[in-house]
Amino acid sequence: MSLKTLEDLFQQELRDILHAEKQILKALPKMAKATESEELQAAFEEHRQQTEEQVERIEQVFAMLEKSPRAKRCVGMEGLIEEGTELMEEGELESPAMDAGLIACAQKVEHYEICAYGTLVAYARQLGMDQAADLLEQTLEEEKETDQKLTSLAEQINFEAVGQSEDE
Ligand code: FE
Ligand code: FE
Repeated sequence: MSLKTLEDLFQQELRDILHAEKQILKALPKMAKATESEELQAAFEEHRQQTEEQVERIEQVFAMLEKSPRAKRCVGMEGLIEEGTELMEEGELESPAMDAGLIACAQKVEHYEICAYGTLVAYARQLGMDQAADLLEQTLEEEKETDQKLTSLAEQINFEAVGQSEDE
């Protein structure tokens, strides 16, 4: 597809974030498995459920555009998830240091999403698609809340991780 207008760009970004969300849906259960922290596990599981709703919202926006929800390969998210996979599979980290690493990875993902949805909301408003903007804004808020929740979990877990290395 050759991009000519802001609407083209909006659709392209929507297809990109659809692929990103689908990758996240697959990654979150693996991340939940990799941690021994029940709180972090619960946070990943809660966000997996939210992510399912987020995918539905994207599909609703495609319906408003009268387009089929076709994903476009999101290389940015592939890279972030690849880094997380390396941490889980190739590293020798143990909890809570592993948890600290998982949170860092998850926060990179959330920041990518906050940026993507922020842009999508702005484009949708610009294009006069207020209903779509409102839907995408709901997701934007969820991503921000998730990021904040991860920050408070990190503060607690990083503290424990320091304690862990001092014990050795
Ligand atoms: Fe998301
Ligand atoms: Fe998210």
